[in-house]
Amino acid sequence: MSQPASEPAVTVGVVKETAPGERRVAVVPESIPALARAGIRVLVEPGAGSAAWFPDSAYERAGAGLAGRDEVAGRAGVIAGVGTPAPDLIACLRAGQVVIGMLRPLVQPELARQLAGIGVTAISLDGLPRTVSRAQSMDALTSQANVAGYKAVLVAADQFGRFFPMLITAAGTSRPASVLVLGAGVAGLQAMGTARRLGAVVTGYDVRPQTREQVESVGARFLQLASVAAAEGEGGYARALSAGEQTAQQAELAAQIARFDVVITTAQVPGRRPPLLVSAEAVKGMQAGSVLVDLAASDLGGNVEGSVADQTVLTGDGVRIIGAGNLPAQVPTAASTAYSHNIVALLAELVRGGTLTIDPADEIQAGVVVTHQGTVIHPAVAALLAPSAEGGTR
Ligand code: NAD
Repeated sequence: MSQPASEPAVTVGVVKETAPGERRVAVVPESIPALARAGIRVLVEPGAGSAAWFPDSAYERAGAGLAGRDEVAGRAGVIAGVGTPAPDLIACLRAGQVVIGMLRPLVQPELARQLAGIGVTAISLDGLPRTVSRAQSMDALTSQANVAGYKAVLVAADQFGRFFPMLITAAGTSRPASVLVLGAGVAGLQAMGTARRLGAVVTGYDVRPQTREQVESVGARFLQLASVAAAEGEGGYARALSAGEQTAQQAELAAQIARFDVVITTAQVPGRRPPLLVSAEAVKGMQAGSVLVDLAASDLGGNVEGSVADQTVLTGDGVRIIGAGNLPAQVPTAASTAYSHNIVALLAELVRGGTLTIDPADEIQAGVVVTHQGTVIHPAVAALLAPSAEGGTR
């Protein structure tokens, strides 16, 4: 039954993210009117948007209510977050509530088990099917990878001791920086385009052969490796390489990498450790002053041997390895705005006639709904939690 817009039946709560370094907020003020039109009211914890430069007053002006964290958790039927819910928030949750975020359930299946135990419906945007065109506007992996690819180039340029563009001045001519981007997905293509716009000479590489055209369309040259066969996987992603393929890839890349000033790595395989692309030997071959930015660096490892998430390692040979960590959080206004648009699109899909409806048979919901009615219903996550998979999530 439809509800009048003046009496929203669904309340979305927005709380402050508490993960270290996290500056994003799940819903920005400009999204509040669109949510109101969909019959959704928004309740915001004071200060939730301040690290992304969205003051409480902007939320109030847009029509959101402000309430303390506990009250938001108690009154909201849906809690929208960016990352995983903080332990204090989980402690306040009750059966029937919905939690939306990028919950990384394939990496942290235990959280799914915990949320199912409470009876919370967990919706994780990182499970969204990428090939369903209706889902594009909800694609938070894309919106955030886009920010990460852009920021990776700025981080590299900031640490690099020379200019990116060729500069001809009375004091001499500088040659442009040569930049290699490994992985030509969303982040990689954005990094290539951004480095090009800064004037660098850019080369891109991916195991999926169809990326050649995309690499060239952003003004970069495609690096062709002879040792690795095409590695197209499912859903537009790459497949994991065999051990032999990986060794051959690393060896061939090592020979190439020495001639680049800056290497930005973005390679991922869903639900797996990021592939190791740049060996210690390859790093050793680089000139002093070279910079590597590893976007895949996390507690699971990274694309560059020796990279550590959120840290910069300076090798004895003067090469800087930057473990990028959470780059979207470092561009918090743009990243939050894009993410918020993704949340609005998702909620517009889920809330019909003032009621939030969970339908795991729907092709989009099948990807994002992880737990419902006390059960982990996402097959891949449930498989990780099955007794035979205990102790090994990858
Ligand atoms: P991702 O983050 O999973 O991986 C980044 C890139 O790393 C991918 O291009 C992958 O091929 C590459 N990679 C993996 N292993 C590698 C290796 N060993 N060596 C070199 N490269 C390796 O990918 P993503 O950026 O999320 O994008 C995945 C795909 O989904 C892309 O094809 C993208 O264009 C597509 N996509 C489609 C839509 C849509 O149609 N709506 C939206 C978003 C993304």
